[in-house]
Amino acid sequence: MKYRVFLSLGSNIEDRERHLLDALNCIFAISDVSLEKISNIYETEPVGYTEQGRFLNMAAQIATSRKAEELLEELLGIEKLLKRERIIRWGPRTIDIDILAYGDLKFDTPRLTVPHPRMFERAFVLIPLMEICDKKELYGVNIREALDKCSDRDGVRLYKKITIFDLHGAC
Ligand code: ATP
Ligand code: MG
Ligand code: MG
Repeated sequence: MKYRVFLSLGSNIEDRERHLLDALNCIFAISDVSLEKISNIYETEPVGYTEQGRFLNMAAQIATSRKAEELLEELLGIEKLLKRERIIRWGPRTIDIDILAYGDLKFDTPRLTVPHPRMFERAFVLIPLMEICDKKELYGVNIREALDKCSDRDGVRLYKKITIFDLHGAC
């Protein structure tokens, strides 16, 4: 059984773009994971903890038959490889990789909550996601309607157009 999985990536420690591309290359290299689509890169004002630099955010669509908990471990491993530190909640980070949706499966364990509990209130998640998601709804929520209610909408701007061919196998 192959699952279509949507990921959200973010970085606000330089080299932000490098961190995103390195993370994507690492995702590309996970066994039994195919990277199907990536969004363009957006620059976004920080929300939650605002005393930090702007983020670059993007979304990716992958296909995998791996179990969700296993994929999460792989993604946390990539964060570690890219020197992610957790000092302040929602604070500066080289890379954050979150699982937004896993087919239509739901998870609620201490390690993993899917759909991601804050995805529908974050424009920096939904704007890139909308670019690559061919469904109007995820988990019964209309993505466009959720986006219209997001208070951080104005803080999200297109930063750079990229395609999957811009990845160069850094990992
Ligand atoms: P937010 O979840 O609000 O985006 P964050 O991404 O900064 O915050 P992290 O420090 O990256 O939070 O993650 C903390 C923990 O969240 C991880 O160790 C992981 O086990 C757990 N987690 C739960 N659900 C998910 C998910 N859907 N995607 C990624 N991590 C998750
Ligand atoms: Mg996050
Ligand atoms: Mg995270």
